Amino acid sequence: MRKKIIAGNWKMNMTPSQAVALCAELKDLVKNDDVDVVYCVPAIDIVPVVNALKGTNVKVGAENMYFEEKGAYTGEISAAMLKDAGVEYVIIGHSERRDYFKEDDALLNKKVKKAIEAGLTPILCCGETLEQREMGITMDWIRMQIKSDLAGVAAADVAKLVIAYEPIWAIGTGKTATTAQAEEVCGGIRACIAEIYDKATADAVRIQYGGSVNAGNAAELFAEKDIDGGLVGGASLKADFGKIVCYNK
Ligand code: PEP
Repeated sequence: MRKKIIAGNWKMNMTPSQAVALCAELKDLVKNDDVDVVYCVPAIDIVPVVNALKGTNVKVGAENMYFEEKGAYTGEISAAMLKDAGVEYVIIGHSERRDYFKEDDALLNKKVKKAIEAGLTPILCCGETLEQREMGITMDWIRMQIKSDLAGVAAADVAKLVIAYEPIWAIGTGKTATTAQAEEVCGGIRACIAEIYDKATADAVRIQYGGSVNAGNAAELFAEKDIDGGLVGGASLKADFGKIVCYNK
């Protein structure tokens, strides 16, 4: 039985003081022992948010990291730095990073491996454009992403990671994939993991849906057998996030 995981992706929002205030505002709203709750926050917010969340049920994630151990990589943050600061999860391969920062699957594969080596749990994002969906190549594209991003990653590590299926056309647009569309792809990702690894690994890996999740659609999406929670952008910055986390109450 997989525990649901609901993560907020704050993106480039919230100054450190705003971040601390948001943690305080949401504190009592996001209590739900049935699910793992994570805030993935901008790098500069990590330390104050880790402190603000001490003693709560909420874990902290980063939105990105670099794969090298340390050294002359101006502006980058290492997995070891995140771990030492109290981070437990890290988003890898969000479509905004793939698109705006030209992160490709070879780079993301290195990041996934480094995150795991450092003891962080990757939230590995994948998803198709509207054009790819209309061409009928959604699953081919996502299988390619998964295979490349996880190349050389051991089954035991895959079993512990989180994959977020995020159709690009649904991110920040207010257009949610239908529950059937989301379940079809999440199930397809699980089948892909079973094919590359084995059934036990596929049964263990947690697969989130992301793309305009809100208080009104979360319960229906999360009731699907292959959808193990959500990666939530816009709605994670307001009180609505509490309703999403408490979708089963
Ligand atoms: C995201 O940023 O991963 C996301 C799904 O955003 P939104 O919920 O705003 O569509």
